Amino acid sequence: MPQHFLLSAKARTLSLAKVMRLSDAEAYETFKQVRWAANDGKPICPRCGSCEAYEYRARLIFRCKDCGAQFSVTTDTIFASRKMAHRDLLAAIAIFVNGAKGISALQLSRDLDCQYKTAFVLAHKLREAMGSQVQGRKLGGHVEIDGAYFGGYVKPENWKKDRKDLRLRQHQTGKRKAVVVMRERGGRTVPMIRASEADAVPEIVANVLIGSTVYADEASCWDALHARFEARRINHSVAFKNEDACTNQAESFFSRLRRAEIGTHHHISGRYLHQYANEMAWREDHRRKPNGDLYQLVAGAALAHSVSREWKGYWQRHDI
Ligand SMILES: [Zn+2]
Repeated sequence: MPQHFLLSAKARTLSLAKVMRLSDAEAYETFKQVRWAANDGKPICPRCGSCEAYEYRARLIFRCKDCGAQFSVTTDTIFASRKMAHRDLLAAIAIFVNGAKGISALQLSRDLDCQYKTAFVLAHKLREAMGSQVQGRKLGGHVEIDGAYFGGYVKPENWKKDRKDLRLRQHQTGKRKAVVVMRERGGRTVPMIRASEADAVPEIVANVLIGSTVYADEASCWDALHARFEARRINHSVAFKNEDACTNQAESFFSRLRRAEIGTHHHISGRYLHQYANEMAWREDHRRKPNGDLYQLVAGAALAHSVSREWKGYWQRHDI
């Protein structure tokens, strides 16, 4: 039997031990190489784009020779106004990519020996950077569509007579949301969060290229797709797959998201569901890459992503 990819030596190209042994200077150099890869690790002014800058080595900042702007390797990125050392941020990325079902903020805070609040925001910043690579893409070819419900957990009452039928609308909290996914066979995965599966149809129509073949289950809301695409349906009460159709790729995304919900985070709040869905879509798309590549990709995405409006100064606006 062939060995599973993740068990092969090729899948292990990143060692957390090596990351933790980086000196301050080496970790800083890694940041420069990742952020300014196009300029061989040499600084590019984020304000004017000039490649000429003075370096203040003691303070790890640069001043642009053309416009005078002062900047650091993390200015205007998701790590802007970082307090954590460069090496710890790299370690956080290494720990994060190694968790196939995601990493909880509590575990990250223990592994990095930092506050829970710090780990919570850091993990969400990484998810946001991953999400920016996942969203905004048009899909084509063979595209599977499916939906599943997440979030809005309600603890059941102790006595059976007190329990509510959560399927009824009057007992729903509105926090339970539909995650609908579009997944190209052999390609990319784009999730979206809606109140119901039917609400996702306009976005599917807008984001799947004309001429594609779409695959969906028997749910009646997908009937609308036949007007636009060649649509093939599979009735899941009869089979998961027939000679014409299956949505197994989409199911595999949901299985990863469900395992993250149950196994790692325990509850996912509807408010952040889009972040977890994007993270799991990213992980599905890159699941056959060695972990060293994933580490490079997430670091690159984080340093190419602008300051987070949602997560910058989060704890000044919220409290637990
Ligand atoms: Zn400049």
